Amino acid sequence: MAKSPWSKPVTKALQADGLELGKFDTSATPGFKGNKKDGEQLLAERGPVLSDLQEKLFANGRSGDPRSVLLVLQGMDTAGKGGIVRHVIGSVDPQGVDHAAFGVPTAEEKRHNYLWRIRRQLPRGGQIGVFDRSHYEDVLVVRVHNLVAPEVWGKRYDEINKFERKIVDSGTTLIKVAMFVSLDEQRKRLAERLNRPDKYWKFNPNDIDERGFWPAYQEAYQAVLDRTSTDYAPWHVLPADRKWYSRLAVTELLIDALQNLKLDWPAAQFDVEEQKKRLAAS
Ligand code: ADP
Repeated sequence: MAKSPWSKPVTKALQADGLELGKFDTSATPGFKGNKKDGEQLLAERGPVLSDLQEKLFANGRSGDPRSVLLVLQGMDTAGKGGIVRHVIGSVDPQGVDHAAFGVPTAEEKRHNYLWRIRRQLPRGGQIGVFDRSHYEDVLVVRVHNLVAPEVWGKRYDEINKFERKIVDSGTTLIKVAMFVSLDEQRKRLAERLNRPDKYWKFNPNDIDERGFWPAYQEAYQAVLDRTSTDYAPWHVLPADRKWYSRLAVTELLIDALQNLKLDWPAAQFDVEEQKKRLAAS
């Protein structure tokens, strides 16, 4: 392939500013010049790069560096959040990953503010945190299904911005990714779940009901992009009809974030020469 397979940095290619979801092409591959084969080949090359950077982050965490990275994945059912976890996060050492999935709040979670369960799962220093769904559900499913009054969810955008400001100030790089598939592509993916016994476990009859709320979800997602994309925690809008592209793009987002931390291997906390001598004599 040509020198760089990207025509622009992936952070630029996916930026949310001014984006209208109604006109968004979910089958596009923004910024990437290659085809599926090129993308898959590149992903195979970039996995080890991500893995090395993650090891450096982990090593620094062990030495007391408080910094971490948090990947927030949002998307409708079948958008491919699970695939990102398996195929992108799966390429790094699991001990360096803090993974959390957020479903319908439990009885205990309901007794607390909606950010309570989120705070408890923030990554520790040196870790890559992954949120499969997040606090954004509290302005998405909650808004679409009127689970709380509009005055309540309406205040949450500002609350979330403040909350994320604190997270970033404490040393966490936030990578927010909203994944979008088309209604047609979702039908195909749901059909696959119904046609393959090894996929039945992923099927939830409620997913079909949710399809009826598609326009309301589009509106709720649009509000999220318009109101919670900040310079310190911008949204990346990811077309997700092509799985190879979404996996490659998220890999690049993680690599970019980790490179921006300018990590080095932590210096030895002992006298290397002295320890070599001791080892030789042992
Ligand atoms: P998935 O469908 O992603 O495999 P689960 O079935 O465990 O995972 O849970 C996801 C469901 O939980 C989704 O329908 C989502 O909208 C819902 N959910 C997540 N957070 C909340 C929330 N704060 N309030 C209500 N429902 C929520």
